[in-house]
Amino acid sequence: MDPLRRNLAESARGFMPADEGLALHTAACDLPVAGPLLEVGSYCGKSALYLADAAQTQGRLLFAVDHHRGSEENQPGWEWHEPDLVDPEVGLLDTLPHFRRNLFMAGLEQTVVAVVGDSVAVAQAWGTPLAFLFIDGGHGETSAHNDYDYWAPHVALGGRLAIHDVFCNPAHGGRPPYEIYCRAKASKEFADVASNGSLRVLVRIAPAPS
Ligand code: SAH
Ligand code: MG
Repeated sequence: MDPLRRNLAESARGFMPADEGLALHTAACDLPVAGPLLEVGSYCGKSALYLADAAQTQGRLLFAVDHHRGSEENQPGWEWHEPDLVDPEVGLLDTLPHFRRNLFMAGLEQTVVAVVGDSVAVAQAWGTPLAFLFIDGGHGETSAHNDYDYWAPHVALGGRLAIHDVFCNPAHGGRPPYEIYCRAKASKEFADVASNGSLRVLVRIAPAPS
C-alpha cells in the first residue's frame, strides 16, 4: 500500500486496527472479476482509505454507503459516542466532513463515490454486480442482517465479501456481524478466503438464488 496513504489510514478516526486494515487492503487487491468495490459503513473514512488504495491500483471505483449520522452505538450516551462529531447546528452526528477531508488528503476523491443515504434504500436501487463488498454498517440485529440480505446478492460470482467485527466469542463483541458471517457460510454461496482479527473475507462460489 502507498506509504502516505497507509499513514493517513492509520491516523484516521475510526474503528479498525492497522493489521485488519492492511488485511482488508490485501483482500481488495487483484480482484478476479469485473466491477466496483462497495463498503457499507464509512464513518470518517478509515476503511475507505484502505479499500480505495486497492481500488485505484486496479482502475476501479469504491462506492462508500453511509447516512453519516452514526450507528446506534455512536449516539449520545452509548459506548462509541464521539461528541465532537455532532453538528451543533443540527444536533446530530455528521461524519461526512471528516470522511471527505480524509479522502481529499489521500488524493482519492476521484476513486471514491460517497453515497449518502440509508443502506437498504441504496441497496434496493442498486444494479451493478460488485467485485468486492465490505459490510461494516450498523451492528444491531436488524441493521446487520439487512445489510447481508440486501447487499450480499449483489456480489458477483468470484467476487469477495468482507465482514468486520466478527467475534466468535460473545465476550469479545456483539453477535450480529458473527451471525451474518455464519449465514454466508451456511448458504453455501460463500467460502472462506482469509481472516485477520475480527475481519473475515469470503468469496462467492455459487450464484445468489433469484
Ligand atoms: N468502516 C468504518 C466504521 C463504520 S462505523 C471505519 O473503518 O472506521 C458504522 C457506520 O455505519 C456509521 O458511520 C453509521 O453512520 C453507518 N450506518 C449505520 N447504519 C446505517 C444505515 N442503515 N445506512 C447507512 N449507514 C449506516
Ligand atoms: Mg467495524
